[in-house]
Amino acid sequence: MMAKKQTAGRNALGDLAPKFAELNDDVLFGEVWSREKELSPRDRSMITIAALFSAGLYPQLKAHLSIGKDHGVTKQEAVEIVTQLAFYCGWPKAWSTFPLIREVYGDEEKEIDGVPSNLSAFPVGSKNDAYAQYFIGQSYLAPLSTKQVPVYNVTFEPGCRNNWHIHHASEGGGQMLICVSGRGWYQEWGKEARELHPGDVVNIPEGVKHWHGAACDSWFQHLAIEVPGKDGKAEWLEPVDDEQYGKLR
Ligand code: MN
Repeated sequence: MMAKKQTAGRNALGDLAPKFAELNDDVLFGEVWSREKELSPRDRSMITIAALFSAGLYPQLKAHLSIGKDHGVTKQEAVEIVTQLAFYCGWPKAWSTFPLIREVYGDEEKEIDGVPSNLSAFPVGSKNDAYAQYFIGQSYLAPLSTKQVPVYNVTFEPGCRNNWHIHHASEGGGQMLICVSGRGWYQEWGKEARELHPGDVVNIPEGVKHWHGAACDSWFQHLAIEVPGKDGKAEWLEPVDDEQYGKLR
């Protein structure tokens, strides 16, 4: 994950201490934090959180918990960092820091059986065991409509995607996706992957080889609509290989 461009110095202190603001944004963040090959932004966030925790600098610590979140530090990891540091730096510091983690991460990661509870208005359903052999990672399936036009809500954990597959039909057929939560990908064979966000609609023609799934760092949810057709049948093919998937940003 790329380090976020920092403007906090100029925003907060540009009028009072313009040189300090410039050093903060352009040198500390622009030249040191941005050395991602030497140390990832996530690792830099973790050590910075540890340093500020140790010093008891809570306003700064809260700011860096938030930056750490942007750099991919999960709530569970933040809790674990503080739990360990409590032994080295002081128990009361942990008591002072947990509420900051709660503020930074809010309720957005409240989970039910490991799934964020606020992904969308649609139910998550149950683990998609019937199709698990055609997926990498854990997916969940909730039937929303089994009459008229069948509609399912499909939830993908971060990194989860289905194998290459084709929706066959002798007449009509194909599939529509309506994205409702998170960030994901759709790719047709031989084409660039398309990044998906809530509100995006994907029309998948009958007979076209494709896959869909979550981004590596985000939950993803789409409604899957079976387009009515004759002799509809899915043909499941090879997995999307890790290298190809790993290149998607
Ligand atoms: Mn499909």
